[in-house]
Amino acid sequence: MSIATILEQLKQKNPNEEEFHQTAEEVLFYFSPVLEKHKQYQQYKIVERMLEPDRVISFRVNWVDDAGEVQVNRGYRVQMNSALGPYKGGLRFSPTVSLGEFKFLAFEQTFKNALTGIPLGAGKGGADFDPRGKSDGEVMRFCQAFMQELYRHIGNRLDVPAGDKGVGAREIGFLFGTYKKLQNQYEGVLTGKGINWGGSLMRTEATGYGLVYFAQEMLRQAGEEVSGKRCIVSGSGNVSQYCIEKLIRLGAKVVTVSDSSGFIYDEKGIDEEKLAYIKELKNEKRGRIEEYARKFGAEYTPVHQGGDSDPLWNVKAELAFPCATQNEVQEKDVQNMKSNGVFLLAEGANMPLTAEATKLIEQSDILYGPGKAANAGGVAVSGIEMMQNYIGSYWSAEEVDSRLKKIMCDIHNQCLQTAEEWGFGKNYAAGANIAGFIRVADAMIAQGVI
Ligand code: GLU
Repeated sequence: MSIATILEQLKQKNPNEEEFHQTAEEVLFYFSPVLEKHKQYQQYKIVERMLEPDRVISFRVNWVDDAGEVQVNRGYRVQMNSALGPYKGGLRFSPTVSLGEFKFLAFEQTFKNALTGIPLGAGKGGADFDPRGKSDGEVMRFCQAFMQELYRHIGNRLDVPAGDKGVGAREIGFLFGTYKKLQNQYEGVLTGKGINWGGSLMRTEATGYGLVYFAQEMLRQAGEEVSGKRCIVSGSGNVSQYCIEKLIRLGAKVVTVSDSSGFIYDEKGIDEEKLAYIKELKNEKRGRIEEYARKFGAEYTPVHQGGDSDPLWNVKAELAFPCATQNEVQEKDVQNMKSNGVFLLAEGANMPLTAEATKLIEQSDILYGPGKAANAGGVAVSGIEMMQNYIGSYWSAEEVDSRLKKIMCDIHNQCLQTAEEWGFGKNYAAGANIAGFIRVADAMIAQGVI
């Protein structure tokens, strides 16, 4: 079956799942030469099988809020592919989630996890729960109710969720506590755990640091370095915080940070003290980024929904790191970045570029590091956390950090070598998708038609 027919059928079979269609289209675009050369991938219907999750779980989550009112939410877990190892991927709590979003994320995760070289399958899940404005008690009761159903579908050799948007250290703690109580077992069923109760050093930093390590490799190829560069970063969650931290420590100047309400432009640059404030504001006080402007006298621009561009991406810079959410960068934004002198964009978020923006950036001379490669550091250190849980022994921050660096460097080299090998020049997206695909496809063939 041709790629076009596979995509057509995917759309028919999964209507209203636009983000899943978008990612499938972007990924499958690169597979034609691979399917042409390796007929067994067609014979075993590998692409069709990868697009159909192993299992999709959807469940009701009931809990009682602080006012005594019963709340009804919907939980999901998409167990996408287990050819390489136990299902692995984050949980996202956000009022706008949908099954299509989880399928898109789980599909991306399949290739991302394969690229890490660690034996990890792929999954993703979460709930349409909005943690904003909820008390700690409400978040705890929600997490408990969520895990009361999820626990029967996961396990340390079966499916190991982690955090994602809306799920951080606090939520992982509540989820882990509930799992342990229900299973009566202390096992590494989640990653991103606290470091004194089974977590790994450097897991918190891993996605952001890994992103910058990946960008460093891209820059090295171009005879450039991070030091002295002006950077624009979106988001203010875990990925942005540690992307900013690493950029500052390597001598770059970061001038933006944002949340879903608006963005900050700080011409003086975010320093360690301002970053500590952002961490406290977002992780402890759970406030809005606008408060940064009041505290440090920077410019604040509220979000305008529905436009064809975001002024954050029109701030003059050389390096860009979208770390907020999917489809946050539009075609016009890429045009603006080009005219402002951005020459590298590496994705901390999953699929932050719209389909049109992706096409444009690939035709441009901006160095483009796709999320499934550039942000794989988080799940890589999750894999390292799982290894430590299995052997019951823990490694130093230096040890984990050097493993992370090596993995990001290996992913970078795999992307370039694979792209070159398949005639895609220095296209990182082509390399990432094809390298991830071949690894999973070969494992699926070896394991038979199941
Ligand atoms: N949610 C992160 C991602 O998108 C981390 C997943 C994990 O550590 O399992 O890769």
